[in-house]
Amino acid sequence: MASPIEPHQYTLKRAVSCCGVGLHTGRTVNLTIKPAPANSGIQFLRSDLAGRPIIPARVEKIIDTTLATTIGDGNHKVATTEHLMAALRGFGIDNALVDLDSHEVPIMDGSAGPFIHLLKSSGRQRQQALRKILRITRPLSHTVGDKSIRIEPYDGFKVTGRIHFDDACINEQRYSVEVTNERFCKEIATARTFGFVEQVEYLWQNGLALGGTLNNVIAIHWDRRSILNEDGLRFDDEFIRHKVLDVIGDMALLGSPLLGHVIADRSGHSLHLGLMQTIVNNPDCWEYVTYTQKGDAFFRQVSNSTQAAGHRFSPFFKSVGEAMATCPNCAV
Ligand SMILES: [Zn+2]
Repeated sequence: MASPIEPHQYTLKRAVSCCGVGLHTGRTVNLTIKPAPANSGIQFLRSDLAGRPIIPARVEKIIDTTLATTIGDGNHKVATTEHLMAALRGFGIDNALVDLDSHEVPIMDGSAGPFIHLLKSSGRQRQQALRKILRITRPLSHTVGDKSIRIEPYDGFKVTGRIHFDDACINEQRYSVEVTNERFCKEIATARTFGFVEQVEYLWQNGLALGGTLNNVIAIHWDRRSILNEDGLRFDDEFIRHKVLDVIGDMALLGSPLLGHVIADRSGHSLHLGLMQTIVNNPDCWEYVTYTQKGDAFFRQVSNSTQAAGHRFSPFFKSVGEAMATCPNCAV
């Protein structure tokens, strides 16, 4: 059989750095992505705090999904993880240490494009260890009102998104993509986040989105017919492409590459979390697998009992949805 995914884990060839502003604080943030050992996953290091705490980028660490995805551990947090996580997953990086000196990942241009540029300047380093891949074996779904997200068995990683806004600017958009490194970089990575002008004004009045400018968000005009950004859109359907990007970035918090087809209808970060919780709480609907190569052929092995894997996750979910931890070192 052919392998639907690269069997080995990857990290970066060398450390790479960039600097940007946090969308909500408007503060300058320095970010360095460093190579990391096999099986360590993606981890965030808050180098601005005493003790340099590390927060694993994992679903059980999610503490807030309003406006963006925030992970936290005790009194420490990292906000707006989704675009960087999408870039790491889209570029095929399994293990990396992300060092940042603020509690917010820089927004850059509102897309994952600058992070992909950074990762390309490093290149990927193949590691000896095999990937532990989360393979969906039965469909699972999560629905809230008219919004839904589901995942179905699929021999690859595919994301289909749909949004519908009752206006002339976005209207109804659909996008479906087989998430390979190449297609992610070409079709998804540069799609920017978006917001309605009055929403941005509201956030400003409430001390949020202080770093938001037309350089990092597509602002939809009050008339709902046009956008304020003079250079226009990067794709005609940039809005749904960005939604697909957010799905990829949030699902990366499962901590393993996925074999499955995610179908998201008007979803957002809280629905993404809902689906991940549903996956974690239903270990009979998925399994961890590895692929090994003999000659030109690939062989799949189940690497863990699904029950044991489910139990690994489940204790953490008791705290999700409870009050968000506050960080005394953070302004927000
Ligand atoms: Zn986004």
